[in-house]
Amino acid sequence: MEVMRILHMNKGNGETSYAKNSIVQSNIISLGRRVMDEALKKLMIRNSEILSFGIADLGCSSGPNSLLSISNIVETIQNLCHDLDRPVPELSLSLNDLPSNDFNYIFASLPEFYDRVKKRDNNYESLGFEHGSGGPCFVSAVPGSFYGRLFPRRSLHFVHSSSSLHWLSQVPCGEVNKKDGVVITADLDNRGKIYLSKTSPKSAHKVYALQFQTDFSVFLRSRSEELVPGGRMVLSFLGRSSPDPTTEESCYQWELLAQALMSLAKEGIIEEENIDAFNAPYYAASPEELKMAIEKEGSFSIDRLEISPVDWEGGSISDDSYDIVRFKPEALASGRRVAKTIRAVVEPMLEPTFGQKVMDELFERYAKLVGEYVYVSSPRYTIVIVSLLRMD
Ligand code: SAH
Repeated sequence: MEVMRILHMNKGNGETSYAKNSIVQSNIISLGRRVMDEALKKLMIRNSEILSFGIADLGCSSGPNSLLSISNIVETIQNLCHDLDRPVPELSLSLNDLPSNDFNYIFASLPEFYDRVKKRDNNYESLGFEHGSGGPCFVSAVPGSFYGRLFPRRSLHFVHSSSSLHWLSQVPCGEVNKKDGVVITADLDNRGKIYLSKTSPKSAHKVYALQFQTDFSVFLRSRSEELVPGGRMVLSFLGRSSPDPTTEESCYQWELLAQALMSLAKEGIIEEENIDAFNAPYYAASPEELKMAIEKEGSFSIDRLEISPVDWEGGSISDDSYDIVRFKPEALASGRRVAKTIRAVVEPMLEPTFGQKVMDELFERYAKLVGEYVYVSSPRYTIVIVSLLRMD
């Protein structure tokens, strides 16, 4: 499976599009805002003489969230400059995603974005803003994988990424060993499942963890070359709090999707072998795994590392609000909403293997399974938020 080709969210603006179903991710952006603002403040204070900042949002997707992160970044910088009594610097804002991303959708909303930014800045005229154009705020798109170089050396001061780094560069391969100097890879043995699960063999745990370590190290190495010394990076993504990668917080959304697929296979609607062969290019990392990768790569120090639970609809969870949704119709309605958010993300990934024709039926069954689960449990995702400093 070629991840570059199939890893994009549902395009456009229709009922099943990511643009219409990305409230969970928008809540994750808000959840990371405090840490992001803190990092920007430290950056601005340390770099009072810099007149032009390079900023990138990695894995921007297409929809209302694509411009939300950079809009928040610009707002924070405008407020900080006001407080520090200094002019707003020029901002070069780069939006990155894979080449298959619907960048045109973002471009169409740029004039409105520029107008919003302009209105927020009382000094805009003196800063050179013109109607419908960026003025001191220059947005561009950079298509390519963040698991590799995207920007010139030392051209960035701040990197942000939300809800993207749980996607791996590829589906991990099974048994990797060397025979007469030749590397042998095999399909992952993960029958009836599409991600790590209680029944997955230990070898599957190993290759998933290894793929994450490899990918995340490449990510850090690439950014370490692109960021100036003293530059900062704030990343938030789905992870886990427990060392065990098969607890419900880290994989149950995939477990239920596998159940829905298996129910279609039992009725002969899809092939069971296709489920055996399909594995998601996804990994929910633990804080320890992150720390390990960051320390090993060696260019960044950790300024902050936090984890926060959110419910499957993106709502924040405090310990006392942890009671279960208790009316069945309410739980089933929640199941339908959750299924839509998951469909917007994973449908392009599933379609090449299982066919477009079964998608409505699959997600109807999935919605029901999620609803029944929400009725008896309070499922949560664990969001990892990490703030990093590029060391001198
Ligand atoms: N940041 C947005 C989008 C999150 S969806 C938000 O918060 O709503 C995750 C995005 O990451 C998708 O658009 C996907 O295409 C992108 N992505 C996944 N792997 C990537 C990679 N290796 N390089 C660049 N983008 C990637």
